[in-house]
Amino acid sequence: MKLTERQEKIVNLVKESSPMTSEQIAGQLNLTRATLRPDLAILTMTGVLDARPRVGYFYKDDSMRSSIRERMRYLRVGDFKSVASSVKESITIYDAVVAMFTNNVGSLIVVGQERELRGMVSRKDILKASLGKTELQQVPISVIMTRMPNIIMAYSDESVMEAAHKLVRHQIDSLPVVDILIDETGNERCDVVGRFTKTNVANLFVELGY
Ligand code: ADP
Repeated sequence: MKLTERQEKIVNLVKESSPMTSEQIAGQLNLTRATLRPDLAILTMTGVLDARPRVGYFYKDDSMRSSIRERMRYLRVGDFKSVASSVKESITIYDAVVAMFTNNVGSLIVVGQERELRGMVSRKDILKASLGKTELQQVPISVIMTRMPNIIMAYSDESVMEAAHKLVRHQIDSLPVVDILIDETGNERCDVVGRFTKTNVANLFVELGY
């Protein structure tokens, strides 16, 4: 696997003095722990470093590394997701096309007033609407979106393998990443916190050196 410059620095630090906590590594590199999190996740899951709870990170030599495939199962969606690219269900189909170009995405997550998941609109939904007599500048996307409860979702603590399987199994390009919240009346709400797409999976494979 080809490491980034920052990942190399982390490995060299930990090689010199194992174990190191993420606070210590962040301190040495003048970075926040949040910035380091994806790098530490990659280094741990690919077996370059070993993470022991409440102790810190250790350097592992080649003979100790287990297979990348096995470790892929431990990578979390929350560490590799993209920003949500969400829109309100009242926007018109025309504005959804503009939002797709502006955000450089192929599908949009549709949310309600409190960022709760309502549906998804993809390129094909819009193409289908444009074949008929639909007034693209008048009709809201709520009319053409795929709506809850038929949306396939991902969760931050789910493995990227599991989420990638959902993309393949359901033949879709992206999954909204949600936190399940329970409101005062006991109702479940899916709070949108990101997006997990085929592009995230492709980037991950490149990152892991496939
Ligand atoms: P494209 O339209 O570019 O092929 P997708 O394959 O993602 O994009 O979408 C195909 C269909 O699946 C569309 O009708 C879309 O509304 C729907 N869809 C997209 N994402 C999801 C999802 N996460 N859950 C359920 N349906 C989805």
